[in-house]
Formats: sequence, C-alpha cells, structure tokens
Amino acid sequence: MKIKDDSWISPRDMRALLSSYRKLLKTNTEERDEADRMLIRKAMDTAIEAHKDTKRKSGEPYIFHPMAVALIVSEEIGLGTTSICAALLHDVVEDTELTNADMDLLFGKKIARIIDGLTKIEEVADMSTSIQAENFRKILLTLSEDVRVILIKIADRLHNMRTLESMKVSKQHKIASETLFLYAPLAHRLGLYAIKSELEDLSLKYMEPQIFEEIELKLKKTKAVRTRFVNQFILPIKRSLDSTDLKFTIQGRTKSIYSIWKKMLKKNIPFEEVYDIFAIRVILDVPIEEEKVTCWNVYSTVTDFYLPNPDRLRDWITSPKANGYESLHTTVMSPSGKWVEVQIRTLRMDEVAEMGYAAHWKYKESVGDSNVDLWLNKIRELLENPSQDAVDFIDDFKLDLFADEIYVFTPNGEVKTMRNNATALDFAFEIHTQIGATCLGAKVNNKLVPLSYKLNSGDQIEIITSKKQKPKEDWLKFVVTGKAKSKIKTLLREEKRVHAEEGKQILKKQLKKLGINLSETNIKALRSFFKTRNQLELYYGLYTGKVDLNKTSKLKIINGEIIYRPRKRPSSSKKLEEMVTKARGQSDLLILGQDMKDIQYELANCCNPIPGDDVFGFVTVSKGITIHRTSCPNAIQLLSNYAYRIVQTKWTNQESLAFLVGLEVTGIDDLGIVNEITKIISEELNVNMRSISFDSEDGIFEGEIMAFVHDTAHLTNLIKKLRKIEGVTQIRRIDSEKTD
Ligand code: MN
Repeated sequence: MKIKDDSWISPRDMRALLSSYRKLLKTNTEERDEADRMLIRKAMDTAIEAHKDTKRKSGEPYIFHPMAVALIVSEEIGLGTTSICAALLHDVVEDTELTNADMDLLFGKKIARIIDGLTKIEEVADMSTSIQAENFRKILLTLSEDVRVILIKIADRLHNMRTLESMKVSKQHKIASETLFLYAPLAHRLGLYAIKSELEDLSLKYMEPQIFEEIELKLKKTKAVRTRFVNQFILPIKRSLDSTDLKFTIQGRTKSIYSIWKKMLKKNIPFEEVYDIFAIRVILDVPIEEEKVTCWNVYSTVTDFYLPNPDRLRDWITSPKANGYESLHTTVMSPSGKWVEVQIRTLRMDEVAEMGYAAHWKYKESVGDSNVDLWLNKIRELLENPSQDAVDFIDDFKLDLFADEIYVFTPNGEVKTMRNNATALDFAFEIHTQIGATCLGAKVNNKLVPLSYKLNSGDQIEIITSKKQKPKEDWLKFVVTGKAKSKIKTLLREEKRVHAEEGKQILKKQLKKLGINLSETNIKALRSFFKTRNQLELYYGLYTGKVDLNKTSKLKIINGEIIYRPRKRPSSSKKLEEMVTKARGQSDLLILGQDMKDIQYELANCCNPIPGDDVFGFVTVSKGITIHRTSCPNAIQLLSNYAYRIVQTKWTNQESLAFLVGLEVTGIDDLGIVNEITKIISEELNVNMRSISFDSEDGIFEGEIMAFVHDTAHLTNLIKKLRKIEGVTQIRRIDSEKTD
C-alpha cells in the first residue's frame, strides 16, 4: 500500500499503520475477494484523508483508532468486509464534512446505514443531558436495524477502553462506568466472552485502581502455588486420557480480576478465600457429531478421580445458553479438600465461548455473506426474544423490547420516548403546549410531513410553527397521546369560550334592535329553536354563523318574549310512513351499505357527504332517502321542522363505500403549500387521507396523496380545489401507491 501524501505522519507511525493494514487484510481471508479488498482499501484511503489532520488525546494520529476498531471487528469478532469498512469509516461522518449521502455514494447503502447508526448512537451517547442507561440500551437496539452497528460499537468501546490512559480522570470514570453498565453486558449477551471480560477488567482498573492492582498483585504472587496445584490435579486425568486416542488439551484457567472482585464482594470474603480463582478446562478436538458423548466420557473420567458436587453440575451442551455458550461444568473435590471447577468442552465450543457466534461459521461448509447474515439474524433474535431457558441472561441483561414505545430525537439530539403510533403533532405537544398549539407541520429526517405523520423509532423531528396556526377540532382525530388530546381539547374549549362571548354580544345587539331582552326564557326558546345543546353552543353558533337570527322571523314574539313550541306534524302520506318504518328497521338506525337493497337512497347534493361524516337520512317523497351531513346548511331546518322524517343513519365502515385514489401534486416549493394542501383536503373537503408524503428538491416539490373519496364527482371537486392553491402547477391522478 502506498499513501500519496505522507507529510502528516511520522515514518514510524506510518510503518505501524501499514503493518496494521496488512494484518487487517490477512484476517478472514477466505471470505474476501478482490472487490472486497478494493473496498477496504477505499475505506482506508477515505478514513486517512478524513482524519489526517486530527490527533488522538494520546498524540498519535487519529487514524490509528478506526484502524484498531477495524482490526477488533475482524480479528476478535470475526466480521467481514462490510463491517471492516464501516469500522474504518465510523468516525468520518461525525468528525468531517463528509455526509452520510457521501458514504452511500462511495460505499453503498449497507455500509452507509451502519455508519449512520453508529453516528446516531454517538450523538445520543455524547449528549450532555444524562439519559438512563436502560433507556440507552433500548435506543441502541432500536437504532440498530443492523446488529453489526452494535458489534462495531462494542469494538469501538473496547479500543477506547484499551487507550483510556491518556484521558482525564473524570472522563476515565465516566467511560469506565458506562462500559461496565452497558457495553460489558451487551458483549456478554452477544456471546463475546473474551471482550466482555476485558471490558470488565479495564473498567475496574480505572474505577477502582487500588483494588485492581491488589488483586493483580495477589494473583501474581500465588501463581506458582496455583500452577503446582493445577499440575497435580490434572495429572491423573491427563494420564487416563492419554491412554485413549483422544486429542485434547487440559489447563488451568484463572478467573478475570473483575469476577474475582465480584465474588469477594458478593460473599464478603478476602481474596484468599475465593475458592474458584481458577478452573480446569479440558478442550477436546472431536468431530461435531461426537461432541456430546465425548464430553460426557471425559466427565466420567474426571469423576473417577474426584468426587463431584451434584448440585453444581451444569450441562450447557444439551441446552446451550441464550448467547450460544456450550460447555459441561462440574465442581469436584480435590484431595486437599478444595472445590475445583472443571469445564469440559470441544474446540468449537471454546471458540464460540470466546468469540461468540462468529466462530460458528468457521465450522460450516460454505462460508459467505449469507452465513454472516444468518448469524446476525440469530443475534438479533437473541436480542429480541430471550429464550425461556436463558434465565441467567435475562437476569444479567434485563432487556424488554417495548413494542409500544418508540424513541425519537429533537433537532439537537435529545431523546424523547413516545408511544407507538404517535404523530408529529403528538411530538409537538410533548415538547411544549405552545409548540403543539401553533404546529403547522414537521420535518422528519429533513423531509416535510403533515401533522398526522406517524413517527418511527430513530426519527429526528423538527416542528414547524406559525403564530397564525390555531388548534383544530380535526387534530383530535389523529393524535394518540393523552397529553396532546387533553391539551387540544382544553385549547379548543378556551377558544370556543372566547368566541362564544363575542357571539353573545352579537346576539344581545341584534335582539335589542328587535326590542327583545336576553332573558332566561328567550335564551331557552332560541336554544330549542336552533337545536343547540347548551347556551355556549348557541353563542358560539352566532359567532360562526351557524345560528342565523334571520330565521327567527318564523318565530312569534309577544311582548318581547319569544314563543316557540316544537310541534309534531301528523304524517300526510302513508307511503312516507312506510318508508320511514322500513328504513328504521328493527334497530332504529339506518346503516348505509348494509342490507340496502330495498331501500332507495342518495347522497344530498347540498353537503355532499362522504364516508366518515356524521350524517342523517331524510325521507323524501320522490327520491327515497337523502343522506345529509349533520353540519349541512339545510340540516337545522330539516331537523327542526321535519323531525318525523328523519332517519338516524351511520356508515358501516368507511372503506366499503369509499375508494382510494392517489394524486400526484407538483409545484413550487414553499413552506405554506403543504399546509394549504392538507388544510383543503382535511378541513374543507373532509376527505380521509390515508397517507401523504412530500419530497422537495431545488425549489420543486412533489407530493403524493392517498385519500378516500366517495365518487368521481367528489374527486373532481378535490382536484379543482387543489389546483387553485398558489404554487401548485400540476395534479395528476395516479393508479396506485408507490411501493416503498
Ligand atoms: Mn470511535
């Protein structure tokens, strides 16, 4: 490998870098072809170029870090080209001007996605606001579509722990405790035993340096005695196994410093009393089909010499641990009266135990990307569904995936936990009532979306507000959080009250002109005449114009008092009566779209109801039943004067009577345009939208709306209205939704 510009690096560092690079190319070579090597080279060049002006705290060139992470990923975890490249590039987007789009362009979607996940985790992790580790774990998992993200993150952390020396003490403590709390259990969970132990030991070294050194020293001092003991202990076993043609190794394995310390704490004992400072490990080299029987044979040999403790037999061969660990453990009594743990496993099991599932694939016949994917899927599965027999691991790592929770981000990277199905508007209210109340729309991952947009985990949301915006009744139809719902209701009520007060003044003035007082009885008469539920509704109706005082000319006024008695008129036509009875059926409710064969009905032209509207049926003499919206301008008159001809009506279900249409809208980009479109669709036309998405580039925006309309006339109306919006240049009907 040649590097064009090497002025930034000393010859010595350059040699070290090149040697690491060669080492990197030498690992897992069987999985790599020429194209892979080229890609790694390109990632290496990109990383060098990106980091060449940066140094680590230790003073060494920054590139040493991604290089080391790539090596861990490859050598110690056993991942392939994709992960090596992502590891080399993992700090590039965060630290330089290169964007994720650049990564996509240069290295493809797969690698770019992993880098994106790593960058996001970095942002969460570096936030000044402290988030709870449990939350962080969940975030980590939700952000990591691809488990490789977590594995590379662990490798990243391992290298940072290995080089923690050059950090300030306060930083050392923070990083070390985070590692112990989060990364070590994660590594454990993923079966990366060796990495887990190293992370724990390194954490302890920085968090409790005195304890660490003390244990380390005592281990060193007792080493000779231990070695002698181990040699004596294994001698009879070794002799016995030597007499067979079994290939095996047997050795004493010392516990990690961290686990010794934990034991001391847990049992409240000094170092000297920790009986299982070491274990004996027998590793057998046998074909996979002979594994189980051979392990049990060795167990039998061991127990020929030493008495086992039946309570301490663990068979993780028959039922492996959730992270893939397989081994046969027994604890036996040594002649000197000491309990000794003996671990019996095969070479394959041992590698799996040290390296995790990555090692599995070494033993499969075909090795390739698909196998790596299988492995990653397996890990994903483990993360998501801890198996039932894996109680140990659930204890270690209390991870429940909250299916009903999502994690989203504010523009400056703060995490918010929201319930599943929460919309952009819910998020706005989550941040602040005022932001919710004036919310116009939102940008999710830099893409403009409507208020009703359903958020996904990992989304970054920027809320767009406008002083002119006001809470809308419609909002209640799509918000899901209790907070947003109650706030909207309160705000609407407040607004209504203010307007009702204005309405009251209007009423007062107008009645005064007619010489009528705003008396209790008059209000009652007006309320019943206009069919309003209460006084507030009456006043509010005056404000909105729904209540029209001109209609009161039909009312009798005697001595300044309004006389109104609702009357019931007898039916004038028998046919009509029949029809009403028929329509009412047994349930007293006309269900549109259900058993409508013998009932003739049509939708009123005046209000053009569409599925989902509150409607009622009105029995006409000639046309059967006409369906009106309850908010129809004619409704009040019909309801009050012809109550006996009204049939309560409901739609069965919206989709059955409506059909989905797709519209493609093109225009000149302007923040207001999306809002205008959604306003027209949902407010003016009351069309049920299934989805709406907008894309904008270079001042041109393209939108796709999927909505339910009743018929073509309705659609025409919709298109006509949308066309009138300033900035809209083209509307086209499309046949179906885009997939993806
Ligand atoms: Mn890093």
